[in-house]
Parts: sequence; structure tokens; C-alpha cells
Amino acid sequence: MTRETLVETLEEIALLLELKGENPFKIRAYRGGAETVRQFPGDIVQKAKEGDLKGIKGIGDALQQKLHELASTGTLGYYENLRAEFPDTLFELFRIQGLGPKKIKAVYESLGVDSISSLREACESGKIAELSGFGKKTAEKILEAIEFREKNADRFRLGDVEAPVREILDRLKSNPACLRAEAAGSYRRAKETVHDVDFLAASNEPEELIEDFVSGEGVAQIIAKGGTKASVYLENGLQCDLRVVKNEEYACALAYFTGSKEHNVAMRARALERGYTLNEYRLGLKEGSEKELPPVFEDESQLYDFLGMEFVPPELRENTGEVEAAAEGDLPRLIEVENLRGTFHNHTVASDGKNTLQEMGDAAIELGLQYLGIADHSKSSFQANGLDESRLREQIAEIRELNRGYAEAGTTFRILAGNEVDILKDGSLDFDDELLGELDYTVASVHNAMTLSEEKMTERIIRAVEHPEVTMLGHLTGRLLLERDPYAVNVPAVIEACAETGTIIELNCNPWRLDLDWRWWKMATESGVKCAINPDAHRIDHLEFLWFGVRLARKGWLTRADVVNTKSLAEIEEFLELDPIA
Ligand SMILES: [Zn+2]
Ligand SMILES: [Zn+2]
Repeated sequence: MTRETLVETLEEIALLLELKGENPFKIRAYRGGAETVRQFPGDIVQKAKEGDLKGIKGIGDALQQKLHELASTGTLGYYENLRAEFPDTLFELFRIQGLGPKKIKAVYESLGVDSISSLREACESGKIAELSGFGKKTAEKILEAIEFREKNADRFRLGDVEAPVREILDRLKSNPACLRAEAAGSYRRAKETVHDVDFLAASNEPEELIEDFVSGEGVAQIIAKGGTKASVYLENGLQCDLRVVKNEEYACALAYFTGSKEHNVAMRARALERGYTLNEYRLGLKEGSEKELPPVFEDESQLYDFLGMEFVPPELRENTGEVEAAAEGDLPRLIEVENLRGTFHNHTVASDGKNTLQEMGDAAIELGLQYLGIADHSKSSFQANGLDESRLREQIAEIRELNRGYAEAGTTFRILAGNEVDILKDGSLDFDDELLGELDYTVASVHNAMTLSEEKMTERIIRAVEHPEVTMLGHLTGRLLLERDPYAVNVPAVIEACAETGTIIELNCNPWRLDLDWRWWKMATESGVKCAINPDAHRIDHLEFLWFGVRLARKGWLTRADVVNTKSLAEIEEFLELDPIA
């Protein structure tokens, strides 16, 4: 039982009650309960198991009982009964972007739509367009969303698989039969989305590990099971494969199963040139080769070394020049988690965040950061409760006050007063220059009018980055992984404009965004653009996206020098020309 399961069950109950047209207060109680469970600072699962939820604000008696039943037995009768009132396929509809409970209720009740396939039919036959509150445009949008969904049906965001992967790895590693284990494949290479996760383990008792793997807590279905390998589906639909090898095969197997295919092809070619063969388990002798077999490789770095290369970090293994660079001894020294000193783009309760300035600051200090940039939304983002001029000025004053407190306490920490200012449709900014000048820095982002032509969108963004008060450009392409494609924009032209104006480009490391994409960073840094790794945190726990962002930054070949948030507080104060705290 995980916190996530508790949260999702409560949220689903809220949706089902909404479909049934139940009392809004009841629905709100479940939604609020889900949010409380999500944010509870302690071990809520344990508390629920023990029935020890009394006195937690936001969880009433009825919810306490249900959480206890769910956590202690693994199922919840109330939820099962509720779910049984609807066809199973109906739940697919919740996954369609732009189709909330109200719309689902409408199509279900008036057209009998109860699955994605019947929804598609209803869109194509024009019935959806005729439904009151829908119209032709909505029907088209729904069709697009269905197609997008189907295209990405079996893919997962890297950030969403992080927790289950960790659980499986911990489980494998704690088994006495396991000598070592790792998650290989695209997960290890930090691809932004993954199709499945490949686990590799070394053991002398492979069957023990296989048995343990297929009987894991989150396993919903066993796809295949043999003596040294197995495949399963987890409850969330993610396919996980485990392969168990002998310890002496582990190094070559880890390299092989990490991939990418293209990287492996290049590695094999390099081995052949030297008179060796390389397969998934070992390095061998090429036929007729008079060389001697090398000793067993303890780890991957010995394999690379043997082939006359520097160790290639997994994130770089896409055959985009890393093999040649490693052979020349020219690989960049990639940024490490330990290099980060602060971050710039984060929200508080003032706009659409869940924590206060003080809470965000405390959490950042806890993580060892020296500065935390607050960039709440600006007034045009009214859907996100954007700040107007006077609320922003109040926030600046509040930040100055908090900073005096840190200084008095002798803490090396500063909250930077910024804003995520909307880039309006014509490329102008949401605040005037005077107010922008009062801020420590500015993140400029597009949040609306995303359907402009590529030319218009590019002009719009370039106009914003040319503004002297803009420090950095937020989520350049606006994509939401597996939900929304990037808007039309000429990325190289924007990169060039940022290079000319000295505007930083953000690597937004919210797992939904990972924007700007790793594929563009080589071009950006070669033209002299600096990167800021920003979690776009809306809650204190989102600050930890930073560690995740470092993996993507590494994938983009970024070094410590390329990333501005590796600067110390003193260096950032100088860089942003900040006044000392008074
Ligand atoms: Zn934003
Ligand atoms: Zn934001």
C-alpha cells in the first residue's frame, strides 16, 4: 500500500460520486481528503493501517474508517461497490485530456458513451457536437485527444516510474540471493518517457530472485516467467522485465541492456576493430584473432577502458557523438547533483502553489540550497490566481522581511524575489518596466494563445527575450509529456536570440515538462546560452524535481559551468546585481 494508492482511490471515489450526481459537499470531502493525504508530512500509510488518523484536519470520521480499511486490507468495499455500478471501460474516459467528470457524465447519460471506442464513434457521427455544452470544436478536440492518447498509450513519463522502479530495486537488492541489481534501459539513460523498465541482477540463485520479482506488491499480471528472466505488468500498466545473469556477466550485460541500440552497435564495431566480439554477456575473441581474452570485467568502466574509451555516463549513450568523444578522451565533465546551490522558478500560495513563502524557504534550506527564487504567476494568468501589481509588491516586501530574518539568524540563505511573468500574445510582458525593475530577476513564459502560427509564436517569444528585464525564458515549447505536444515555435531561432541577448533558458524539470528538451541543449550551449534547472515547484516536495532535472541536464551534455544554479549565493548576488540584504 502506498500513499499514491490512497490518494488515487479517494480521487476516484470523488469522480464516481460526481457521475452519480451526489451531494457536492460529500464529493468535496473526498477531494479535500485526497489532498490532505497527499501532503501529510508524516507516514500516513502507517497511521491509516493502525487506524490512527484522529485529529488530522481535513479527514473526517467516515474517511478515517475508509482509509483504515484500505490501508490494512488492501481493498475498500465502498469503492469496489461504487465502481461495480459502472462498466470497467468507462474509467478509460478519465484519461482523455479535456474531458472532466461533468462532460463524462453528460456523454454517459445522454449518449450511453461508456468507453473510448464508443466516444470516438459518437464524435465521428456528430452526436457529440450536437450535445448541449459541447459543439463541433469540442468534438474535434476530443478526437485529437483520443488520437494523442492512443499514440502514447503504452508510454510512461520518466518521473512517474521513478517511485515504482525504486521500490522494485530496493526489494531485489534486499534479497540475500541478489549480488547486485540495477534498472537499465531507457530509464537508466534518462529518456523523458519510457515504454518499459529493464531490470538486471546478478545472482547464483536466479530462481529465487525471479520468484521474488513476480510476487512483488505492485505486480498486477505475470506476462512471462522462466529460469533467468521474467516480465510483469504493474498495477499502473507499466511493463517491467527482469533478467538475472552470473556475476561475471554483469558488466557486459548492464552495458548491453542499458543501450541505446545505436550506442551498442557503435561499441560492437569498436570491439571488432580490435579483434574482439561483444555480445550481451561477454567480450569474446573474433574468429582467427590471435589476441588473448581479457580478464572478467568487474564493472562497465573496465569494459570501456579495455576498448580504449573513457567511461560513458548512461545518460549520454544515444550515439550522438559520445563514442567518438570517449575515444578521444573528450567527454564533458557532466553536472552532478552536488553542484546545485539554488533554483529560480517556484510558486507559493500567492498564485497556484500549495505552500507559503516561509514553508518553501524552510524546505529549500532543508535541502541544502543557498537561494530559492520565487516566481509566482502574473496577473494575466488569472486561472492560476496570478498576482497583480499591488500583491506582487506586497510579496516583494514579505520576501525582504524573511531575508532579514535569515541574515539575523546567520543562515546563508536568501529568497530571490522574481516573477513568472506572462508573455502576452504580442510578445509584450504582463508588467511594466518599473515593476519588473523592482524584482531580483524575471522568468518569462507563455501560458495562453498557444495556437499561433510558428512565425507569430517565434516572433512573440523573441520579442520577450529581447526585453532587458527578462532574465530567463520559462518552459520554451510548452509541451506536457504524453498530454500536449509543443506549440509551433522555431527553437533554433529562439536559442539564437537568447544567445544574443544573454537570456538564460530554463530546463523546467517538472516531470510533465522537461522543457527545453535534452536534444536542444548541445546547440544552446555551443551558441553560449546558459541553463537554469528549475523545478517549477508548486509544493515543497516538488523541489526535489531538481535532482531529477540534473539527470536530464546530463543527458543534454551540460556541465557545471553551463548551469547558472551551480553558482553560490554570493556569485548569484553578483550575477543578478542584487543589493545586499538590509
Ligand atoms: Zn509556467
Ligand atoms: Zn511556473
